[in-house]
Amino acid sequence: MHRSGPKSPCPACGRTKDTDCAWAHDIIFCHQGSTNGVGNLKIGDVIKADGTEWALTSRKGGFDGAAAVFRPHRPRPRFQASTHPREAVRKQADVAAARVALSGFYDAFQRAWDVPDFHSLTPDQLREATTLITAAHERGVLLGGMVQQLWREAPEMAERHRDRFEGYRRSIQAQLNDLQHFRSYYLGEVI
Ligand SMILES: [Zn+2]
Repeated sequence: MHRSGPKSPCPACGRTKDTDCAWAHDIIFCHQGSTNGVGNLKIGDVIKADGTEWALTSRKGGFDGAAAVFRPHRPRPRFQASTHPREAVRKQADVAAARVALSGFYDAFQRAWDVPDFHSLTPDQLREATTLITAAHERGVLLGGMVQQLWREAPEMAERHRDRFEGYRRSIQAQLNDLQHFRSYYLGEVI
């Protein structure tokens, strides 16, 4: 263990006048706590000495229980939820499920959108058209409640799908309104 002295200043406080401070490669016992700012440090504060970062871990160290004790500072790895394997797998599963759900909505939308002009339909065809349009609309409403979180958590999905999804939702809503108007106005149905 090194000791402070004229030719070896304490790495924490710079003490040279006597041998009160002592240190090794992995610990510093500093007895000159009030100079060079060491006295103002709180437990956990970090100083730089001899090119290393040291954290103040105690003020009751050393042979007399009055030394400031420093240990090499080891920064805690920052918590990164999104890079944890389990979390990443869950997110991938969510995104995969969302992709399937979106693709199902797009298909349902397309079938509804392909319905010809209502005036040209037989009653059976109109019933079928109503089923398609209602189903697509319901899918859109259901998904609309879930995709907001998806857009936030998976920006690449938002970039690829948000405009298309919102556009289809507006369109299917308009188509459903048209259908209801047609059925009540031309067919006299009570919707
Ligand atoms: Zn010292």
